[in-house]
Amino acid sequence: MALDISKIRNIGIIAHIDAGKTTVTERMLYLSGAKHRVGRVDHGTTDTDDDPEEQERGITIFSACVKYNWNQYSINLLDTPGHVDFTAEVERCLRVLDGAVTVFSAREGVEAQSETVWRQADKYGVPRIVFINKMDREGANFEAVYNDIAPRLGGRPVAVELPVGQGPPHTSDPFRGVIDLVDLKMLEFDPETEGKEVKETDIPADLLDEAMLWREQMLEVVYELNDEAMMLAMDEKPVPREMIVSTLRKGCIEMAIQPVFCGSALHGIGVQPLMTGVGNYLPSPLDRPPVEGFDPKKPDKVLVRKPDVKEPFCGLVFKILPAKTGDNYWIRVYSGELKQNSRVQCPNRDKKENIAQLWQIHASKKERDGQIESVGAGDICCVIGPRFAITGDTVCDTKETIELPSIKFAESVLSMA
Ligand code: GDP
Repeated sequence: MALDISKIRNIGIIAHIDAGKTTVTERMLYLSGAKHRVGRVDHGTTDTDDDPEEQERGITIFSACVKYNWNQYSINLLDTPGHVDFTAEVERCLRVLDGAVTVFSAREGVEAQSETVWRQADKYGVPRIVFINKMDREGANFEAVYNDIAPRLGGRPVAVELPVGQGPPHTSDPFRGVIDLVDLKMLEFDPETEGKEVKETDIPADLLDEAMLWREQMLEVVYELNDEAMMLAMDEKPVPREMIVSTLRKGCIEMAIQPVFCGSALHGIGVQPLMTGVGNYLPSPLDRPPVEGFDPKKPDKVLVRKPDVKEPFCGLVFKILPAKTGDNYWIRVYSGELKQNSRVQCPNRDKKENIAQLWQIHASKKERDGQIESVGAGDICCVIGPRFAITGDTVCDTKETIELPSIKFAESVLSMA
């Protein structure tokens, strides 16, 4: 059965090398219950995939896209290249994701490479939230990084959280939790449980003034983006929580703002609220513009496909991984439904392709070998069977054909999206 599209998030984590992309990924998978231990970059244990069957299929967990659930959301976490030099690879990836988490180091801040990825995400219209990581490091400075985002990246950050303390344990004011500026609560994370246990308390009196100041800054943005909220403020009425979140969500999706979170992925502090933020602020496939392509038989005829299972099927091959049991074709489904044991058209090669098997790779061991019968609009899957398509090609319904802009021409075409 197809998933509720509004609950799907196709996201990537984009970051400067060393900012903590791998550590954030590991922590998210662990906290979602998908993994039972946290892989550690420094221990060389992030690739916990030693399952022989998995190897046989040639699919490693971070090879293309891994699915996990958080709250009511189904998250497809796409692998994004670590090196921005692989521009084609970055383009390909930005093309199929709907939103991104940008990770900065609280110590090193905005670096040259962060500017490159930020601007690429701007160019491809990818809404994002920000995670200021490594708050536990000596010299961590939330405000300095936050203040750099606008002048250096041209972004408009909006803090939805504040750190409680900064720097390593056993110092005078170590980083130990976050203040949620929307709910006005303090969240403390238990390091013994690797960040699984969260204690919600009132904001301590000595932090209240600062928290209210930052909340006011956040609300100013809400008033600016939403007239109804502004009217409430003028009448000195409180703005409901749901209105704050939905206004910031709309602002984020329209790329007017970037909600900012902070934490320490290494110690699991602040990662749960970030995961909730992915659901709250990043777009679902329904929030993205419908895809446009052309009729392969009449190239001047523009066709549009909406993210709806009732539309004719169309999707994009964004990665192909060789495997002994049949190459793995990773497909983002934009419209309609892709079914097992069916045939689809690959207009770029003028060939029909067999869809022999569909897989979804769940981070959870329990669900990982997830062979499925069909996959619906907005979702991502791995297909075994095609032989002709190459990365960037369209696959579509055999009768209602469409050719999506090829990834190779992404720069010119995506400016239309
Ligand atoms: P990537 O290159 O962006 O994938 O970064 P990694 O996840 O590999 O992390 C780079 C280094 O930073 C590793 O040594 C991590 O252990 C370390 N690191 C990542 N997150 C944190 C954090 O929150 N706190 C501290 N102290 N170190 C971290």
